[in-house]
Amino acid sequence: MTAAIGIKGHCAHCDITFELKPWQLNAIAIHEPFDCPYCQRIVQLDCPRQLRQFKSLNRWVLVRPSMVVLTCVALIVALVAEWTGLISVVGQLNVSLVTVLIHFLVLRYARQRQRMTLDLQGVHPTNALPIEQLARIACARLGQQ
Ligand SMILES: [Zn+2]
Repeated sequence: MTAAIGIKGHCAHCDITFELKPWQLNAIAIHEPFDCPYCQRIVQLDCPRQLRQFKSLNRWVLVRPSMVVLTCVALIVALVAEWTGLISVVGQLNVSLVTVLIHFLVLRYARQRQRMTLDLQGVHPTNALPIEQLARIACARLGQQ
């Protein structure tokens, strides 16, 4: 997840948008609530759509290294094709230029996909569950009587 930079979080409590740190991204990845660095209240990514988008980021991290390999191979192939007389020098230059252009377009697109702002929702206070459990116990007791 370290390569996925530029992801921001928006706190529902204090309405502040901030850059998410690696440990906060890890917390989101394992669906664990964490403290907002500004209002210190507990937040969590609750939107299923954004969660899916966030999880698909891992795929985009691999785009950069694979594009470097692809571009290098394409450039070498164009060079060899020129040496063996398959294409002219101008043709080789054109192929190389187009390859480099595609390379940067894909990387730009990948970077845009990685730049997102996650809406961090507040988490219900942790004492909500015991109260719920107490009510259930009370109901069960009433039912027994
Ligand atoms: Zn906050």
